[in-house]
Amino acid sequence: MQTQLFIGGQFVPAANGETLASLNPHDNSVIAEVAMAGPADIDRAVAAAKAAFPKWSKLAAMERGRLLLKLADAIEANADRLARLESIDTGHPIRDTRNLDVPRTAATFRYFGGMADKFEGSVIPVEAGFLNYLTREPVGVVGQVVPWNFPLMFTSWKMAPALAAGNCVILKPAELTPLSSLAIAELMAEVGFPAGVVNILPGLGSVAGQSIAEHPEIGKVAFTGSTAVGRRIVQASSGNLKKVQLELGGKGANLVFGDADLDAVVQGSAFGIFHNQGQACIAASRMIVHEAVADELLEKFVALARSIKIGDPLDPSTEMGPLTSSQHRDRVLSYVDIAREQGGRVLTGGKTPDAAALASGCYVEPTIVAAKPEDRVSQEEVFGPFMTVATFRTDEEALAIANGTEYGLGAGLWTRDLQRAHLVARELHAGMVWVNCYKRVSPASPFGGVGASGYGREMGFEAMREYTQPKSVWVNVDAQIPAYFPR
Ligand code: NAP
Ligand code: MG
Repeated sequence: MQTQLFIGGQFVPAANGETLASLNPHDNSVIAEVAMAGPADIDRAVAAAKAAFPKWSKLAAMERGRLLLKLADAIEANADRLARLESIDTGHPIRDTRNLDVPRTAATFRYFGGMADKFEGSVIPVEAGFLNYLTREPVGVVGQVVPWNFPLMFTSWKMAPALAAGNCVILKPAELTPLSSLAIAELMAEVGFPAGVVNILPGLGSVAGQSIAEHPEIGKVAFTGSTAVGRRIVQASSGNLKKVQLELGGKGANLVFGDADLDAVVQGSAFGIFHNQGQACIAASRMIVHEAVADELLEKFVALARSIKIGDPLDPSTEMGPLTSSQHRDRVLSYVDIAREQGGRVLTGGKTPDAAALASGCYVEPTIVAAKPEDRVSQEEVFGPFMTVATFRTDEEALAIANGTEYGLGAGLWTRDLQRAHLVARELHAGMVWVNCYKRVSPASPFGGVGASGYGREMGFEAMREYTQPKSVWVNVDAQIPAYFPR
């Protein structure tokens, strides 16, 4: 297991020697002491990235792609080790890290490996006699700040398009979950990424993260995390006017119309809110259901929630693991009191599990709360296995509730009515909409939000645009330009 900073192709201690323990949230045991980067380390990494940039950015795109494809193969060859590491560091059940996180990480590197030499510029039809073409140039050194909810997968979402486009990367994983991105660094060195192209620096957000956001020689910062920190990043970026890409929180509306297939709704919504213990920006955290089917749906949904097997993430039969830290568990539980204070009714959960074996971990039961759309629990991102339910009578009312938060990331709707499906999809204030499904993602499909959920898109061609700067070149082929100062 790698526990040092990865700078210029080497694993090295922090300049000031500081470390921080990374814990297993199943029992709060220490997994490893991990080096913690300070501003001096960020400076060193930026220097290494700057030195690597000219060669890397001029390397044939197909060669950059080839390295990303080799990395995808190496991730698959190390799938079990990576899945276990991710499970002990984050608390994700092993069935998910094996079946979702690791394969999706490999798929993202593979997709952008294939994209590297297919992302084309264009020729623009301007006036006769001129050739005007557009090239897409890499930004240079880019900073990337990753949260703790999907550390392995988000490392690929952030790094793959940046590298395919020819940038060099300084990535800071979350202080709670640094181990899987360091494991990726090790594989990158093995498959032959040149030194300095990628630098991985665990550390505190307020120190290493802030220093990345402020750094005068970093041309872009891409951030996933809370809206509050997103705002701070924008401020810190103003010194050199770096490009900013923000993937922030969400409060996913999940609209269930009266004609929906309720069994499909139960399965899709349970995945939407309880997968990864609800710690997902696109979690289906607000169920908004037609009053005619609310009782029937809730009876089925509560029964499923109560049957979910909670336990040690390394047990293959575990369906839900612990939250990522004790602090976060307490924050999620505090929302149960907040809900009750405003008249919310806890339909199930709302506490830690009774099992003695889970007492020292960061566990919270699947929680469903009936709450008014304006209540704090229906407005603020809880980021746990915590779903609110509200009812509606008309489609207009459903949309007003769905669009009634500051967020606009993901939203879903369940109906058999084709016209309603497209109309509601059009009217939802969101960057992603799922019809008769929830929380689908693909490396090929743009991911991101509007409003307080941020701006910019990860994945697909959009991500390549985000990691490049367009350059328009004008060539006079045979144009007769009248003299502007005839003499
Ligand atoms: P956060 O504070 O926004 O952390 C996300 C990342 O930003 C971490 O790597 C963090 O470092 C870093 N960071 C913190 N302060 C920074 C600063 N001033 N400059 C640059 N980077 C900074 O999120 P959190 O505390 O982990 O979680 C709090 C809430 O954020 C959650 O409850 C949830 O609402 C939201 N969240 C959203 C997502 C998402 O996928 N959109 C993911 C995680 C959290 P540290 O590791 O030191 O904190
Ligand atoms: Mg940990």
